[in-house]
Parts: sequence; C-alpha cells; structure tokens
Amino acid sequence: MTLGNLRDLYQQVILDHYKKPRHKGKTNPIDRQQRGHNPSCGDTIELTVHLAPPDADNGESRIADVKFEGEGCAIAIASADLMAEALRGKTVAEALEMVQRFQRMMKGEAEFPKELRKLNVMQGVAQFPVRIKCATLSWHTLRAALEPQAVTPEEGYVSNEGEEA
Ligand code: ZN
Repeated sequence: MTLGNLRDLYQQVILDHYKKPRHKGKTNPIDRQQRGHNPSCGDTIELTVHLAPPDADNGESRIADVKFEGEGCAIAIASADLMAEALRGKTVAEALEMVQRFQRMMKGEAEFPKELRKLNVMQGVAQFPVRIKCATLSWHTLRAALEPQAVTPEEGYVSNEGEEA
C-alpha cells in the first residue's frame, strides 16, 4: 500500500463516520453531560455519557454508552463517533488513560493497540497541525465530562483554545 492509498483510506473512514455517525444522539439515562467548543474551527459538540452502576468488587464505574450531538467539520464529527465506539465498556480510569494516549498519538508519540486501531486513522490528521484540535475536541470534552471538578466551564462549554493539542 502506498502512502497515497493509505491517506485515501484515512479519508474514507473519516468521511464515512461523518456522513453516517453511529453514535449521534443522547444517552438514556444521562449521567454526565458536557459541551465542548473548538474556536479555531468552530466545532461544537455535546457529549452525554451513561455510566453503569459501580462494580461490586472494585467500585469502578464503566461507560455503558457515549453519544454526541453538535455541529462540526468532518474531522471533529468522525473523531467523536470513533471515540464513542472505542469507549463502550471501558472503565472511567481506562477512558481517561485513552484521552492521554490519544493526545500523545496526535503528537506522533503513541499508537493504539490492535483492537482500537481504527482510532489510528486520526493520525492522518496529525500531518495538518491546524486540524489536530478538531480531532482532540471530543476527547478534551470527555475528560471534562468525567472529571467535572477539574474544569471551570464558561457558560457550560469547555474550550480547547489554550490546549497544546
Ligand atoms: Zn474542525
């Protein structure tokens, strides 16, 4: 496979998830809710999360479902949809670890394991620095949703303007 074909493949996957998102809407019930905004492109998404009751053995909460709504470019929407797909069944701790991993991946410092390799299509975006924030918006918003005490959202939005990526 040449590099050109690989880039086409990334584009196909991104466009497919943009046109036919699998995880658009709101979870039922809504246990966590967070809006996020990427001022550099104008992407706005709203995440809802349904958490399963804490595990009886270790007290850890698992993500039963994640959905999103919003307006954004193909990269922002596809990234939110791929993220929602990847997060189902993960514990909150695992999800937060994935946020960090995704940000490292966008800097070219990490790869996702085989079962989550689909997320690697976003690496194609990493070549375009101005679009990286489009890809990381949903992850940034997820972190705020799972760690509500860690941010002070203005008007209910978290913004990734000050973020490195
Ligand atoms: Zn965008």
